[in-house]
Amino acid sequence: MHHRGGHTPFYNSKALELAGVHKDTPNPPGGTFDRDASGELSGRVTDRARSVFSKVGERRTFTADQKAQRDRDGLAYISKQFVRYGLTSVHHEGGNLSALQQVRARGELLHRVSYEATGNVLDAMIASGIATGLGDEWIRFGATSEHTADGSFSERTMALSKTYPGVEPPYQGNIIETQNDLNAWVERVHRGGIQVNCHANGDVAINMVLTAVERAQQLFPRSDARPKITHCTLINDDLLRRIKAAGVVPAVFTSYAYYNTDKFHFYGEDLMKRCMAFRSFLDAGVPAAAGSDFSPGPFDPRMGVQGMVTRTGWNGQTWGANQRISVEEALRINTINGAYNSHEEAIKGSITSGKLADFVVLADDPHTVDQDKIKDIEIVRTVVGGSTVYTA
Ligand SMILES: [Zn+2]
Repeated sequence: MHHRGGHTPFYNSKALELAGVHKDTPNPPGGTFDRDASGELSGRVTDRARSVFSKVGERRTFTADQKAQRDRDGLAYISKQFVRYGLTSVHHEGGNLSALQQVRARGELLHRVSYEATGNVLDAMIASGIATGLGDEWIRFGATSEHTADGSFSERTMALSKTYPGVEPPYQGNIIETQNDLNAWVERVHRGGIQVNCHANGDVAINMVLTAVERAQQLFPRSDARPKITHCTLINDDLLRRIKAAGVVPAVFTSYAYYNTDKFHFYGEDLMKRCMAFRSFLDAGVPAAAGSDFSPGPFDPRMGVQGMVTRTGWNGQTWGANQRISVEEALRINTINGAYNSHEEAIKGSITSGKLADFVVLADDPHTVDQDKIKDIEIVRTVVGGSTVYTA
């Protein structure tokens, strides 16, 4: 059973047995086989400890044709859903690039894609000299997919400089790879003219990514590289200063403030004051963008804006109210800052003469409606490139 956050599945005793994991199995670097108070395996497995399970058990298999068909059908389906919720451009974490082009050719790609490469596609880009920016206004190579530096915010495995409140034995989260490996990856991508994108939630991981980014810039200066940190959840004043100095573009959880509010008591108000720190980013002049992190977080931008403005969740709890921003600021983060994040602010992100005609018509004004009702405003129409792609 997988947590929707994607870092911490639960396995039953049969699966643990098949994988050869028992109560005395040591935790690998960057992951844990969790134990209960009596030292028995609880079944919860975190981050890098998961890899032993990929080699055991049976999974459904598909032919190459079936896989391609599923990829095309999935992309056409999610594109319909995106525009239904008012999204006109989305930064895609990988996916089948060939299927994406076929869906577009069939006229079923309704939203624009900043394609974030990983694996074979990223290797091929580096080998063949394809840099960030190649493509057109529908499908364009953007940053890389998230290169994972630490664990998860919602699943409480992110790397903290202090121990997790109330957890025994003392635990500080999972760091996924060494500083040297992270440095090498960042340097290789940065030298290829490709926008670096690392997943970092905890202050320890953000520090590691900044160290790698600062090093790469020093070795191989490139103007306007806009290194991206996805999530960039827990910051402090020193990290914020370095983020600004390195020209980092954080893509910060938006819908979490509303959706994951029942998890925040595990961190406590002191840490939550520095988490999803939109107010701090804007005040420091850092162009933070919106990161739904779908599928871990809902992608509905209305839920995102409501959470960013109120910091109040579905259960009525408010965490880190000091990080509240205005409706106007939340809208800019979801539009022009997103365009800046993928180097597309010249053609996207505002309704201006000379830019693409991508916009959404809402039934009510988010500036004036009750702030607890922003997520319920009806989307009347979504327009991409001057064509209506959704009507209520
Ligand atoms: Zn991530």
